[in-house]
Amino acid sequence: MSTDPAGELPFYYGSISRTDAEQQLKLAGMVDGLFLLRQCLRSLGGYVLSIVWNLEFHHYSVEKQLNGTYCIAGGKPHCGPAELCEFYSKDPDGLVCTLRKPCLRSPDMLVKPGVFDSLRENMLREYVKQTWNLEGDAMEQAIISQAPQLEKLIATTAHEKMPWYHGKISRQEGERRLYSGVQPDGKFLVRDRDESGTFALSMMYGKTVYHYQILQDKSGKFSMPEGTKFDTIWQLVEYLKMKNDGLVVVLGEACVNSKAAGKTPNLPSARRHGTNGYTPPPKAAASALSPAAMASLPPDRDLLPMDCDGFNPYHNPNDVKRFNIKRNLLLIDELELGSGNFGCVRKGVLKTDSGQIDVAIKVLKSDNEKLVKEEMMREAEIMHQLDNPFIVRMLGLCNAENLMLVMEMASAGPLNKFLSSNKDSVTMENIVGLMHQVSMGMKYLEDKNFVHRDLAARNVLLVNKQFAKISDFGLSKALGADDNYYKARTAGKWPLKWYAPECIKFHKFSSKSDVWSFGVTMWEAFSYGGKPYKKMKGTEVMNFLMDGHRMDSPAGCPERMYSVMNECWIYSHEERPDFMKVEESMRSYHYSISKKAKPEATAGAAEPIK
Ligand code: ADP
Ligand code: MG
Repeated sequence: MSTDPAGELPFYYGSISRTDAEQQLKLAGMVDGLFLLRQCLRSLGGYVLSIVWNLEFHHYSVEKQLNGTYCIAGGKPHCGPAELCEFYSKDPDGLVCTLRKPCLRSPDMLVKPGVFDSLRENMLREYVKQTWNLEGDAMEQAIISQAPQLEKLIATTAHEKMPWYHGKISRQEGERRLYSGVQPDGKFLVRDRDESGTFALSMMYGKTVYHYQILQDKSGKFSMPEGTKFDTIWQLVEYLKMKNDGLVVVLGEACVNSKAAGKTPNLPSARRHGTNGYTPPPKAAASALSPAAMASLPPDRDLLPMDCDGFNPYHNPNDVKRFNIKRNLLLIDELELGSGNFGCVRKGVLKTDSGQIDVAIKVLKSDNEKLVKEEMMREAEIMHQLDNPFIVRMLGLCNAENLMLVMEMASAGPLNKFLSSNKDSVTMENIVGLMHQVSMGMKYLEDKNFVHRDLAARNVLLVNKQFAKISDFGLSKALGADDNYYKARTAGKWPLKWYAPECIKFHKFSSKSDVWSFGVTMWEAFSYGGKPYKKMKGTEVMNFLMDGHRMDSPAGCPERMYSVMNECWIYSHEERPDFMKVEESMRSYHYSISKKAKPEATAGAAEPIK
């Protein structure tokens, strides 16, 4: 997983040394203005721009500011490394010259990962595991869907999860802990210094404990006196394990905080209930959290999908996942969430050993025909085989006064309705995140060889503003192991405007035709719940498409998102991307915009670093 915003630049080399950079520039001819970008080893998230001028090398460090912008010391801030390089290709603004010729990586040369890249990945995993008690697939899905948000969280709170962090203990207590047990050189711990919110590092050397104050500058960066500055304490610690930076010796093994080790994760009591959050009032939402979770939750952070019960309800698999639900465990509310010709969907509560779960109950009309009942059984059978955070889970069937399909509750309702009634408070970035989640759910279906056949914004339900789930498996089919499409014998009441040409012409349904529907769903989402092919009838759409037309981009829709839609609408299903590819596109765009911040203008000339 690469979340490096420079990762896709052809003149970016990753974590190569200064000498290697100069070697590359020499090989490329040493012409004036030849340049490359590499990762900075000193400031995390920063880069170095290496330029040739007059047969000499000039290296400029590009710092990542706390607000997420990038700038060369004294220069203007830019929202990303690409934008920064583009700026300096037009205006030297203090550099020796403009960037004239990119020194391109040869095709067989990969971007070299930095020490911190793999570390960050491990931190992410550890953090997700500790904070939400997730493992396996659920953990992977959490990380893929929320990587940018998680990285921001980790930057501010990760040290609290580290074994070497001892919290608020006195200098004497720090010494006592270091002296207990073996006393190798480099054994260390980090503690809070006092009420000021600053930290101290205590370490063992020659059977003596040394204390260092960790400095924090005005912008919040941490360092040893005169040392390299870092955005986070844990990055500083990792760096000091490699370089002593003024300490008597590099850091060695952690003096483990036994109180923190085996610290119970903040779950499940920390999960927020009341997941109906259109905009959950902060106080009410926070009251469902344990004190430990409150402390680690920055006050203004958005609810993440993992904060909700519905991300991974199977802490106790026997508890929740049963096919037959006894009627007495089910409370059915009068409130109707929606309705269709099968009957209606009601709000309800399911009693389980570990508490109550909010559920949505699809209740079949009592005067139902045999056929409708069979349809619902088929829907249940499909849902029973699926388990993914971005797909509405079935909790079971209850056969009582009516046949009832009990599902996880997605209380913020269908995506199209949510967006059209919350136009002002939902950003494009938010929509990108949600559609990325939908692509993850669809990729899961594609992997499991299921076709949905009714993917549309009305069938994407929201748990809250940041968490989407695919629903309505009424038309879905499981494909045979050797089949890659389902052939419908007769055309039914079909959502023609969401269907790919091969569905309409040949009744052939596959994951590729779901990809087409995903494109239409994206269009609906980016137009805030607009109606696709507005004035056209379903049957007219086919001619419109055959003539090579496609819907226009919704107003304000990011260009890259509109180009994903157009890929989904490639006429021939063979050339159309699959969900593996679509999810990749959604992910890379989601990551790239979540990293950026709005630039603010400051003037000044840049200076090369010595
Ligand atoms: P249909 O086949 O009639 O389209 P759906 O499964 O799409 O049936 O459900 C109809 C409506 O019921 C949805 O549009 C939604 O408003 C509501 N609904 C269905 N499932 C849920 C759920 N799990 N959580 C919340 N609301 C739901
Ligand atoms: Mg529906």
